[in-house]
Amino acid sequence: MAEFTMELNDEQKEVQDWLHGFAADVIRPAAAEWDEREETPWPVIQEAAKVGIYSLDFYAQQYFDPTGLGIPMAMEELFWGDAGIALSIVGTGLAAVGVLANGTEEQIGTWIPQMYGDAGDVKVAAFCSSEPDAGSDVASMRTRAVYDEAKDEWVLNGTKTWATNGGIANVHVVVAVVDSELGSKGHASFIIPPNTPGLSQGQKFKKHGIRASHTAEVVLEDVRVPGSCLLGGKEKLDERLARARERAKAGGERVKNAAMATFEASRPAVGAMAVGTARAAYEVALDYAKTREQFGRPIIDNQGVAFQLADMRTSIDAARLLVWRASWMAVNGKPFTAAEGSMSKLFASETAKKVTAEAIQILGGNGYTREYPVERMHRDAAIYTIFEGTSEIQRLVIARTLAGMPIR
Ligand SMILES: Cc1cc2nc3c(=O)[nH]c(=O)nc-3n(C[C@H](O)[C@H](O)[C@H](O)COP(=O)(O)OP(=O)(O)OC[C@H]3O[C@@H](n4cnc5c(N)ncnc54)[C@H](O)[C@@H]3O)c2cc1C
Repeated sequence: MAEFTMELNDEQKEVQDWLHGFAADVIRPAAAEWDEREETPWPVIQEAAKVGIYSLDFYAQQYFDPTGLGIPMAMEELFWGDAGIALSIVGTGLAAVGVLANGTEEQIGTWIPQMYGDAGDVKVAAFCSSEPDAGSDVASMRTRAVYDEAKDEWVLNGTKTWATNGGIANVHVVVAVVDSELGSKGHASFIIPPNTPGLSQGQKFKKHGIRASHTAEVVLEDVRVPGSCLLGGKEKLDERLARARERAKAGGERVKNAAMATFEASRPAVGAMAVGTARAAYEVALDYAKTREQFGRPIIDNQGVAFQLADMRTSIDAARLLVWRASWMAVNGKPFTAAEGSMSKLFASETAKKVTAEAIQILGGNGYTREYPVERMHRDAAIYTIFEGTSEIQRLVIARTLAGMPIR
C-alpha cells in the first residue's frame, strides 16, 4: 500500500505541470470556438495525440498509479482547460477502461489501439449503456444480444442514447441484455468493430453545455459480431450467469454489492472533472474581483464578494479531498462502507454548479456574456450532476449504503 500523503509526489507534479501547460496553451484558447461549433474538436485531439496525452499508454499510466491520484489529477487539469474538449479527449478512455476491466488480453491488444488510432489518424471510441427507457434504471435495459451458436456470432438489436462519441466512434462498446431474468447481472458488453453493418448514428443532440463533445443515439439493427467480440469470452459469461442465478435464488445481496463497488471506483473521476471546471471559474472570478473597481475600490474589498470567494475556494478544496480519498480507497481496495465514491461525485458536481453560478454573479453583466468563459463553464457544469448517475441517484446510493439496504 502506498504511504498516505496529502501531497502529489515529484513525478505526479511534473505530469500535472505538463497537463496544465497543455490545458492552458492548447485547450483553453480553443474552448469558445468549439463550444460554438458544437463539433468534435479533431485538431485538438490530434495535438493531444502528438504530445502523448491522447493515448492508452498515458491513460493506463495514470489509471495504475499506486496512489490512486493519477486519474483525478489528470481529469482536473484537462477539465480546467475546457470540459467539452476534455471530454472529447478522455471519452475514449472511458470505453477503453470497459475493455481493460472486462476484456481478455487478446481483446485488449486488438481493440484498444483501434479506439485511439494514431497521431496521424486519430480515432475515438464510445461506451453505450443508456437507453431511452433505461437511464438511472439501468436494469430496465432492452437492447438484446442473442447468441447464434451455429455461426458463433452475437446478434444485437436495440437503441442506445446519450452515447458520448456515439456513431462517430471507430469502436463502440455496447452493453446488452443476455439474460432478462437477472436484471443488471444479465448484461454483457460487446465490442462493435469499425464499419459493422447494422450500427448507425441516430439523433445527434444539441446540448446546453459540453458542446464540443459529440453526444448521439446509436441504433443497432441485426448487428452481427463474432463470438470473440463478447468482452471476457463466452466461458466466463456462462460462469458469471450461473453464479448470478445461484445468488439471485439466495437473495441477490452479494451480486448488487459487487456492481456497486465498480461504480464507487469510477465516480471520483467524474468528481475530479467537476473540480477542474469549478476551479477554472473560481480563478476567473478571483482575478476579476481583484481588478474590477466600483465605488473607487476593487470589488473584492467588499466583504460580500470576498466571503463568497472564500466559500467557493473552500468548497472546491473540500470536493478535491473527497475525490482523492475515494480514489485512494479504490486503488487500495478499501471497502466503500459509506459510498465514499458516490459522496465525492455528489459533492464535487453540486459544487461545480454552485461555484460557476457564483462566478457569473461576481463578473456581473460580463459574466452573463460569451465574452467571458464563466457562462460556458456554468453550462458545462450542469452535466456533472447528471451523467454517471444523477445527484439524486448518488444520494440514494449513499443513504441505502448507510442504512445497510441493498442498492437496486
Ligand atoms: C451529455 C451526456 C453524455 C452522456 N454520455 C453517456 C455515455 O457515453 N454512455 C452512456 O451510456 N450514457 C451516457 N449518458 C447518459 C447518462 O448517464 C444519463 O443521462 C443518466 O444516467 C440519467 O439518465 P436519464 O437521462 O434517463 O434520466 P432519468 O433516469 O430519467 O432521471 C430523470 C430524473 O429523475 C430522477 N430520478 C430517477 N430515478 C430516481 C430515484 N429512484 N430517486 C430519485 N430521483 C430519481 C433523476 O435523478 C433525474 O433527476 C450521457 C448523458 C448526457 C446528458
